[in-house]
Amino acid sequence: MNGITIALSKGRIFEETLPLLAAAGIEPLEDPETSRKLIIPTSRADVRLVIVRATDAPTYVQYGAADLGVAGKDVLLEHGSEGLYQPIDLRIAKCRMMVAIPAGFDYGNAVRQGARLKVASKYVNIARQHFAAKGVHVDLIKLYGSMELAPLAGLADAIVDLVSTGSTLKANNLIAVEHVMDISSSLIVNQAALKLKREALEPILDAIAAVVDR
Ligand code: ATP
Ligand code: MG
Repeated sequence: MNGITIALSKGRIFEETLPLLAAAGIEPLEDPETSRKLIIPTSRADVRLVIVRATDAPTYVQYGAADLGVAGKDVLLEHGSEGLYQPIDLRIAKCRMMVAIPAGFDYGNAVRQGARLKVASKYVNIARQHFAAKGVHVDLIKLYGSMELAPLAGLADAIVDLVSTGSTLKANNLIAVEHVMDISSSLIVNQAALKLKREALEPILDAIAAVVDR
């Protein structure tokens, strides 16, 4: 592929990346929410979008199937960022990674007592790192979604999950007790493409950086 391929996930990342792409003169010719197409042409004949699962964006860019992509810090930390260049924090899809517990569980006391906690999360690497740094012993349980259910069903004492408004936690009688890290999405670039397609990529990166900095 001679042109440029950009990997995006549907939903908030797609929506929030649109204005940034527009600044680079790139407008999708179809809406991925209504179209079933996974390859979407754009207003620029040399640029196409590929629609991927959020967790798959780094994989596409790493292997060079996409030259550019957008991925959350959560995804990048879980996946690892080998072969990926991350030039710009786009400051979109912002949220916070938090430890949450069921109301009534005395987390602080359990930690002080040196209890071994069962923690369920989609983000086991981030969670492992967080608790290791605090010297808290945990058994991690990998989940792929609906983390809020785990403490309610007796699967885990706590969860590590993304929180934005907190309304999902609240609806399930959970309380956020610890801030793990702030999350936003970054532009990711295939390292080889950055060299081989520099002429085409640089103006796009510059245009995006200019709107992000505003
Ligand atoms: P799916 O929802 O399809 O299971 P996903 O959760 O990985 O997959 P999105 O919900 O589109 O996909 O989230 C994409 C990225 O947006 C996440 O990787 C994260 O960085 C960020 N994000 C997730 N949840 C929120 C949120 N509630 N508010 C803001 N940003 C979020
Ligand atoms: Mg989601």
